[in-house]
Amino acid sequence: MRFGFDIDDTLINLREHAFHIYNKKLNKQVSLEQFKLIDRVEIHEPFGLTDKEGNDMWNRSLEEIYFTNCPPYPDAVETLQELAKADHEIYYITARPKEHGERTKKWMKNLGFPIDDARFYYGMKDNEKIHTIKTLHLDFYIDDKPAVLQTLEQEPITLFMMDQPYNQSITHHHRLTNWKDFMNLIENHA
Ligand SMILES: [Mg+2]
Repeated sequence: MRFGFDIDDTLINLREHAFHIYNKKLNKQVSLEQFKLIDRVEIHEPFGLTDKEGNDMWNRSLEEIYFTNCPPYPDAVETLQELAKADHEIYYITARPKEHGERTKKWMKNLGFPIDDARFYYGMKDNEKIHTIKTLHLDFYIDDKPAVLQTLEQEPITLFMMDQPYNQSITHHHRLTNWKDFMNLIENHA
C-alpha cells in the first residue's frame, strides 16, 4: 500500500513547539491551557499579536521552529517504521518552503522516520498538494488541515484527519487522535 503523510502537526508537534519558542522570545508566560484553546492554525493571538505581527513572528522564527527539538507525536516514528518494515511505500508531502526541504528531510531522518529520498516532496502550497498526491496514487493520506483534505475528497484515497483543535468542526473524515491507533484504523478502513 502507498501511504502519504503531511509532516507539521500531523507527524510532529510543531505548533506547540513554536508556542514554547514564542513564550521565550517574547518573554511571555502564555499557558499551555490557553494555547490549547486556540481554534485556528496560527498561534499568535494569545501573545497579543495582530495577524500581520504574527505572520512576521512566524517567518522570523521559522529556522528555530523547524530545526530545533520539535518532538514527533508519541508513536508516530514507531508506526511509520512498522509500515516500512511491512514493505509499504511511505511518502511525505509537506508545504514547507523549498529552501527548507532538504534540511527538513535530514532532520526527519535523524528523528528516525523511514525516508526514501525519492518519496519526500516539499515546497508546494497547501492547495498544490493535491497535484502531487494525485500523481502518487496513494491509498492513504493523512493531514491536519481541513482545506487540504477537502481538495482530495473526490479522489479514491482513504483520508484521515489528524485531530487538532482547529479542525473539530469537520466531522466527516476518519480521525486520528493517537498514532498508536493508526494500524487498527487502517485495517478498519482499508
Ligand atoms: Mg500540517
